[in-house]
Amino acid sequence: MAKVTTSIITIGDELLIGQTIDTNSAWMAQQLNAMGIWVHRRVAIGDRKEDILETMAKEAAVSDIVLITGGLGPTADDITKPTLCEYFQTKLVQHEPTLQWVLHIFESRGLPLLQRNIDQAMVPEACTVIRNERGTAPGMWFEKDGKIYVSMPGVPHEMKGIMESYVLPQLAAHFNTPAVLHHTLITSGMGESFVAERLTAFEAGLPPHIRLAYLPSYSLLKLRLTAFGADKVTTAAELTIYFNEMKLLLEDITVADQDIAIGEVLGRILLEKGKTVGTAESCTGGQIAAWITAVPGSSAYYKGSTITYSNEMKMKLLGVKQETLQTYGAVSEETVKEMLAGALNTLEVDYAIAVSGIMGPDGGTNEKPVGTVWMAVGSRDAMVTVKHHLRYDRERNIQMTAVYAMNELRKLILQ
Ligand code: AMP
Ligand code: MG
Repeated sequence: MAKVTTSIITIGDELLIGQTIDTNSAWMAQQLNAMGIWVHRRVAIGDRKEDILETMAKEAAVSDIVLITGGLGPTADDITKPTLCEYFQTKLVQHEPTLQWVLHIFESRGLPLLQRNIDQAMVPEACTVIRNERGTAPGMWFEKDGKIYVSMPGVPHEMKGIMESYVLPQLAAHFNTPAVLHHTLITSGMGESFVAERLTAFEAGLPPHIRLAYLPSYSLLKLRLTAFGADKVTTAAELTIYFNEMKLLLEDITVADQDIAIGEVLGRILLEKGKTVGTAESCTGGQIAAWITAVPGSSAYYKGSTITYSNEMKMKLLGVKQETLQTYGAVSEETVKEMLAGALNTLEVDYAIAVSGIMGPDGGTNEKPVGTVWMAVGSRDAMVTVKHHLRYDRERNIQMTAVYAMNELRKLILQ
């Protein structure tokens, strides 16, 4: 089976200066990969005619499919459409269904219609127009010299709508693609080199069409097995055999046997046990609560949180003693213990997580440098406290703290 290849071109000056992060091509690559289409290159370019023309030609020379996003807005800085006309040697014509759609959108929103909005219904004559259910700029499908080109708006939500409703199904129908299946195991408590040592024989025994990838993610390690095959059912069955073998080898350090976030891992355990949780967060400012509640249905086990950033709030809402704060400081084992007890009490939950630390970049002392964090997790009957020394930037320190603390609670509950 011939490999079907794609290039993704994202257009926009904002991408080049880093003002907007190119999430479009990452999402598109995931979708394509899942259906067995190989992403050959991802290229970000500015809103410049010469660059667009040159990049399209260059990518079409090496890929079967060229997917393009951006530069389709109604403003002068968006020049993709006239450039497409030049590339495909065609002209802009009015597309009646798109015009009706644009008129409908403006009418239903009660907005005055400008010429530049009407112009959104002008499309290159050589294309198949793809209706944009989520906006005014349509998608455009071209075929030239055996290659497929699709131009879509840059707005992620609109691009996704067009991809899901039209582009992906059309590509699936167009090409006979192999099955590409992934299965991920999440582990904790062992560094990747040690895990790799343990998996040496397993890895050596993998057939060439099954690959193992190590993806460290905060304090967790994701092990992704990917299988390529002609038939989905056979490939899935084969992947399952190897996955189970790997799982058995790592049973003692397994956190989850699918690629889910720590909030969901914890949530499933709490749900199964019929227990509730709450958080007392200082340095994470609600990050742990946000990750717990990112899971649909979390209301079944999550009751609430206190975000006690100041000493005053630690005392007032959690009953931390002034004496404790004065003697040991806010970032101390004694304080997080009292925060935990306070949270169990105030929130009336079975389990709680309490964290307090110095996330940086300032605020450290010799005794407690930036990155020092104390956490306490547990119930009325069992509790553990852990100290970490994190060494990243503020954002990452906060996320690490949240993952560590949630993982500590997971371990405690499963003990
Ligand atoms: P445009 O179609 O060029 O008018 O893009 C509209 C908006 O979509 C821009 O203001 C960006 O915020 C966003 N956008 C454009 N390209 C991307 C991309 N590759 N990834 C994420 N957002 C994007
Ligand atoms: Mg733009």
